[in-house]
Parts: sequence; structure tokens; C-alpha cells
Amino acid sequence: MTDTLEKIAEEVRACAACELHHSRALGVPGVGPANAEIMFIGEGPGFHENQQGQPFVGAAGDYLNELLQLIGLSRQDTFITNVVKCRPPGNRDPLPEEIEACKAFLDRQIVLINPKMIITLGRYSMARWFPSARISKVHGQARRMGGRLIYPMYHPAAALHQPSLRPLLEEDFRRIPELLRQVDSIAEAAEDEEPPEEQPRQLSLF
Ligand code: SF4
Repeated sequence: MTDTLEKIAEEVRACAACELHHSRALGVPGVGPANAEIMFIGEGPGFHENQQGQPFVGAAGDYLNELLQLIGLSRQDTFITNVVKCRPPGNRDPLPEEIEACKAFLDRQIVLINPKMIITLGRYSMARWFPSARISKVHGQARRMGGRLIYPMYHPAAALHQPSLRPLLEEDFRRIPELLRQVDSIAEAAEDEEPPEEQPRQLSLF
């Protein structure tokens, strides 16, 4: 049977594969067009997301919308999801076993959407591609892996809590259009290659 985003969403809403289904009001599979060039992956649903079944609503969602406007995009142009699709109680961090249990949904979404660029928001989604990297060192450095760009960024909620991160996040966002234009000419990184921590941030990938 052909896989679809709607099928994944239905499965998420009925899933009991990890403990997070106990704290779920509504599952939050993700939202956006199946042909999106950009896919944002955050951490997990918060209070408002859990109530509405939509990712990135509330203050962090408003800020994400603002960031998208900086580069002439709206959220309808992108697919937005999280590493776990149900709310961790009390907004705690998702546990490794919960991320692992939910991984197959994210894998299927990536296959179906096949985005040119995956933007990881925060360290939990970054860790899937760069498990030992520190976000403070590698944010804003794109790597081409598996035929697409993986671009780590701070989570918008982190920038709301720590205003000094806002200019960094906004600068990283402003580079998205140029990176998208370059994506086909960027060399593939080695499978285990992480963004270099000690180098100055790259303004161009070459
Ligand atoms: Fe299932 Fe993911 Fe929800 Fe856990 S977080 S219950 S794996 S959909």
C-alpha cells in the first residue's frame, strides 16, 4: 500500500509505541505540503501544540513565522514537524527511547517529502545527523548528506528565552535562500562527518 503523509498522521494519532501517548491530547504529526523544499524538524509538541494538533503554535510558532517572513517565505511553503509527535509531560526533554520509538514516522516523512534542505531546530533533531556536535559551535553550518542539505539551527524557543541567540538565529535564517540555490553544487559530506567545531562559520560552502 502506498505510503502518504495522511496515513502517517493517522498512525501517529493512534500510536502507543512509547510512554508519550499517555500525555497526548492530540498527536502532532506535522504539517505542510508533500513537495516542500524545506523541512523543519523541532523537538516535540508543547502545551499549545498538544491542544491544537499543530506544530509550532504559540510564541515559538509566532517567532518561526517571523523568521520565515525575513526570507519571504510562509509556513505553508515548508513542512514542519518534530522528532517526537506527542507531548512530553511538563515540556520535559524527549528521552532517547522515545525519539527512537518515533523515528520511523520521521523517516517515512523524509522519504515522502524528499526535501532539498532539512533544518534542524535545537539539539534533539540535530543529534540525528550530528550526534556529538554542540549546537553553539555548528549552528549555521550546512552539510550535504544523503543528497540534501542538513542545516542545524537553534530552536526558536531557545532564542525567546535567551535573547542573545536571536541575532544568530536570524543570521542563520537569512542564509537559507542562498543555500537552497547552491544545494545541487555542494559536495556530499562523508557519512560520519560533522560540521567542524573549530573553524569560523562558513559564509559560503566553498
Ligand atoms: Fe508513538 Fe511517537 Fe507518540 Fe511515542 S511520541 S506514542 S512513538 S507517535
